Amino acid sequence: MASDSLLRFDRDHLWHPYTSTTRPLPVYPVASASGVRIRLMDGRELIDGMSSWWCAIHGYNHPVLNRAIREQSERMAHVMFGGLTHEPAVELGRLLVQLTPEPLDKVFLCDSGSVSVEVALKMALQYQQAMGRPERHRLLTVRGGYHGDTFHAMSVCDPITGMHTLFERSLPQQLFAPRPTCRFGGPWDESDLASMAELLAERHHETAAVIIEPIVQGAGGMWFYHPEYLRGLRRLCDRYGVLLIFDEIATGFGRTGVLFAAEHAGVAPDILCAGKAITGGTMTLAATLATTEVATAVSNGAAGVFMHGPTFMGNPLACHVACASINLLRATPWQERVAAIASQLEQELELARSLPTVADVRVLGAIGVIETTQPVDMAVLQRFFVDQGVWIRPFGRLLYLMPPFIIEPDELSQLTSALVRAAAMVQ
Ligand SMILES: *Cc1c(COP(=O)(O)O)cnc(C)c1O
Repeated sequence: MASDSLLRFDRDHLWHPYTSTTRPLPVYPVASASGVRIRLMDGRELIDGMSSWWCAIHGYNHPVLNRAIREQSERMAHVMFGGLTHEPAVELGRLLVQLTPEPLDKVFLCDSGSVSVEVALKMALQYQQAMGRPERHRLLTVRGGYHGDTFHAMSVCDPITGMHTLFERSLPQQLFAPRPTCRFGGPWDESDLASMAELLAERHHETAAVIIEPIVQGAGGMWFYHPEYLRGLRRLCDRYGVLLIFDEIATGFGRTGVLFAAEHAGVAPDILCAGKAITGGTMTLAATLATTEVATAVSNGAAGVFMHGPTFMGNPLACHVACASINLLRATPWQERVAAIASQLEQELELARSLPTVADVRVLGAIGVIETTQPVDMAVLQRFFVDQGVWIRPFGRLLYLMPPFIIEPDELSQLTSALVRAAAMVQ
């Protein structure tokens, strides 16, 4: 198909994430992708700075992942998970139990990050009911979070960026503490936890769980906060019998320099959500892990079961490629690679700090952020980046990179220099 007729149909008929059908933004047609390069239909190649939203940690078109998909598709692409089981699901479950923090050992496989958050929240509500505390139906979180686009997940997203007013009549009202302010790597100030502690002291009787992105708040502002916050939060949740849920959908599988961001704080949640990079960016899949204590209470509650079961639960194709991706990660020196990316990002993005248009520069693991003083014009910058031969997608006042772990230093330099130039262009 010629790219102009493809683009015409796309513009007339397809929604893209967060877009208008009447004022469509430009989209760029992709022919293929390989390694860290995305090839457009007009032959231009772009170095990928996004890992397709945290997912493609090994780059694109990886032979090991391709082989896993091929092999599994010849055995069975899918079979229902009600009443049946299979090796890919069992192997993935084994890996997840082994690699996530210690007490998490019950695995619920599901289709996407948002669904894994729904599953986590339903588990927390069923847990509290089973414990004889049905009045604990509310969720507590911090501002600046992002947990997905479905209704209950949306109810714990930041109220402003999550557009709560738009859905006010259908959204459950949750409790919000301010976002943590102490930086990762900076000094810790105990008062950072004060509002959270107060909210828990006053409202724990109605609170089922606290849900939070550990260490890195992703789509809600690309903010990196102090591990001590999570240690204090764990103690508070224990004191009040409130469950703690870590949403590791963006941070899981090495992005922050450790396999799961919870490791920075040395604390374990009661429930953990994983997704995004779980299949190395090849297929949609997510998982919710719970402790035996949570799972046992849920299972012994009034319903006698956990009330959830998606059609494509435990999809063998996705599970098998997830195993291949996780084993590939573990067979490569990913920690050294992420550390090398981090130090290069620190060095090269530092150039932006003195720009009058720049409010902050921060790096954690393979995540580099330039925060500007004014919102960026996404369409203008998108075209600028494509002209520079890089794929970077800014939003709000955030210009950021999260490249595949396999990126070479010269390729990363092309990303950082485009990012710094873009930061200088912001009006
Ligand atoms: C992306 C993301 C989600 C939602 O995942 P989807 O697969 O888009 O539904 C939830 N939480 C966090 C932290 C995320 O980054």
